[in-house]
Amino acid sequence: MNTTSTTLSVDWQGRADALAIDGRAFVDGSRATAQGQVSRPTISPIDGRVLTELTVCGPADVDRAVAAARRAFPSWSRMGAEGRKGLLLALAAIMERHADELALLETLDSGKPILQTTTVDVPGAISTLRWYAEAADKQSGELPAVPPGATAMVTREPLGVVAAIVPWNFPLEIAVWKLAPALVAGNTVVLKPAEQTSLSVLRLAELAAEAGLPAGVLNIITGTGREVGAALAHHMDVDALAFTGSTAVSRTLLEASGRSNLKRLSLEAGGKSSNIVFADTADLATAAAKAAFGAFYNQGQVCSANSRILVQREIHDEFAALLADAAAAYRPTDPLAGLEGNGALISRAHTDDVEGWILRGRAEGEVLFGGQRREIRGSDAYLEPTLLGGLQPDHDVHREEIFGPVAVLHAFDTEGEAVSLANATDYGLAASVWTSDLSRAHRIAGDLLAGTVSVNTVDALSNTTPFGGFKQSGFGRDLSLHAFDNYTALKTTWIQFG
Ligand code: NAD
Repeated sequence: MNTTSTTLSVDWQGRADALAIDGRAFVDGSRATAQGQVSRPTISPIDGRVLTELTVCGPADVDRAVAAARRAFPSWSRMGAEGRKGLLLALAAIMERHADELALLETLDSGKPILQTTTVDVPGAISTLRWYAEAADKQSGELPAVPPGATAMVTREPLGVVAAIVPWNFPLEIAVWKLAPALVAGNTVVLKPAEQTSLSVLRLAELAAEAGLPAGVLNIITGTGREVGAALAHHMDVDALAFTGSTAVSRTLLEASGRSNLKRLSLEAGGKSSNIVFADTADLATAAAKAAFGAFYNQGQVCSANSRILVQREIHDEFAALLADAAAAYRPTDPLAGLEGNGALISRAHTDDVEGWILRGRAEGEVLFGGQRREIRGSDAYLEPTLLGGLQPDHDVHREEIFGPVAVLHAFDTEGEAVSLANATDYGLAASVWTSDLSRAHRIAGDLLAGTVSVNTVDALSNTTPFGGFKQSGFGRDLSLHAFDNYTALKTTWIQFG
């Protein structure tokens, strides 16, 4: 893993200039151009430069990728857990050797600061891949009690061809969250990255081939959601679809599954998470630092971002001041400088949308800090971390996912009020609670409708713990052994012998 000092000493711009970036899809073990030879430039949000031409695949390309994955399935699924484990550990080792290159691709493509991609995104993806590879040969089936004269085995079987559709906010990490358990379980994969951020997973597929993954086991299809994503969702030969993205697209995927072959779905959709801070919190400065992280990290483009900060009234002003100090760590900086701070948002258009929310907040409430757009490297896709206040809880700012570095602060009086405010959303991905009262922590954790409740921290996450939502944040879980539920079916083999 890189440290800040090594990140600072590298000439990342020089390395970026020297990179030969290939934007072609990866199908059946090699790079592929779209059948119609269509491509479009992919632009870096950090400075508006064209990075490369990206293949725009269509339904015929999807058919070819799914057919390749289908052909590869029998031998991959019968290879045995130990064989798959060896190949995926080899891939993890190769990723480690290419960690800086993967991090640079991720920074150029997504706008994240290089300090983050070298210390979080790429090491995180490698760690998750290793964790699943190691889990491959450590699982057993069941021998349930059945009447005398028979024995029954319950085993987990791979489903076949798994499609994965992923978003642009953590392109490599979320791709690995899907493909690692899917491949370990014996499935083959066709992955569609977000059109804004395809480069790191395209390189990953090349590295996988270098590690010895057979052709067709991992395919990357680039293109739009409306065409390529929808073709995967409607495909009759895709057995399961693992999705991370918006609730709106999740609805279309449910429909597509119903209209096609009832493919299994796991949906990680949006969020509007709350961070509840009680006056009895032992260390308010730490709580504020974590609250700033929860709201502004990754330019606030985090599905579980704690973008509603609910603070007990008696500490409201003190906490707002601490939060303003802590937010300084998330001011925009040059993403290639190797410094702390936020990078660019995913695009100018998205920055316009997020800025629109700030303008509404300013008009209908108040901007407590931040609110300004910044220009760095000639691009204006940068926003200061921003806190809004003076808005009623039924205001859109409290309810809609903004997906940028914008949080809203609101005072509450009682525990019951805090829980009702936190639960007053269609989403249910995550929530955080700060208190020194253990009984209260347990009580509230029980009452909050969220897939992850973090107590005295925010956004708690590990390879070992399931991540996913309640309500319209979707269903199915990434990470942990529970992710295998998305990619396997239980089979009962009953042998009658008496
Ligand atoms: P999005 O839903 O627009 O796109 C996600 C992916 O779906 C992209 O690859 C896109 O090309 C594809 N897609 C778009 N339309 C499609 C269609 N009709 N059929 C099939 N695929 C289609 O989301 P986004 O803007 O890329 O990402 C932001 C959203 O993702 C936010 O709502 C955020 O909360 C959510 N998200 C959720 C999680 C989670 O784990 N719950 C994690 C990260 C992001």
